[in-house]
Amino acid sequence: MGNIFRPNLCVNKVSDLNFSELYEKGFRYALLDFDNTLAPDHYTEPIEYSYEMVSRMKNAGFSLCLVSNAKSERSAKIAKMLDIPCISYAHKPSPSGVLKAMDMIGAAKENTLMIGDQLFTDMAAGNRAGVYTILVERYSKKEVFYVVLKRFPEWILRKICRF
Ligand SMILES: [Mg+2]
Repeated sequence: MGNIFRPNLCVNKVSDLNFSELYEKGFRYALLDFDNTLAPDHYTEPIEYSYEMVSRMKNAGFSLCLVSNAKSERSAKIAKMLDIPCISYAHKPSPSGVLKAMDMIGAAKENTLMIGDQLFTDMAAGNRAGVYTILVERYSKKEVFYVVLKRFPEWILRKICRF
C-alpha cells in the first residue's frame, strides 16, 4: 500500500535540495507545484523564496515548468512572474498534467523531477507519470480547508509506510 504516494525523496524544503548534484545524476527538468511548495498556500504572487528557488534551479541547468491544479488565471500569472511555463488545471493526482508539461518542455521521465508538498496530488501524479518524485514539507501550516482535510490521511499513510 502507498506505492503511488511514496516519494523517491523527502526533504524539508526546496532550498535543502542540491540541484547541481541532481543535475550530475542526470536530471534536467523539474516540474513544480506552487502552493505550499514555493510559497505559502494560495498566494496570488510569488514570494522572494519562490524567485530564489527558481533561479537556483535554472542556474544549475534545469528547465522548469509549473504544474498546478489551480485556476489558470492565478497560476499563469505566477508562472509569468517567475518566467517559467505552466500547466494549470493539471488534475493531479491524474498524471495528465504532468505528462502534458513534460511534452511541452521536452522532458523524459528518466530526467525529470516532480517537486511538491502533497502525497495525494503531487506525488501520486508524478509517480504515475514515472518521474522522480520529491516531497517537501508544507511551506506554511496555514492552508485552505480542503487541503487541511488531506493532511490527516497523509500523516497516517506516512506513519504506516514510514516516510
Ligand atoms: Mg501544494
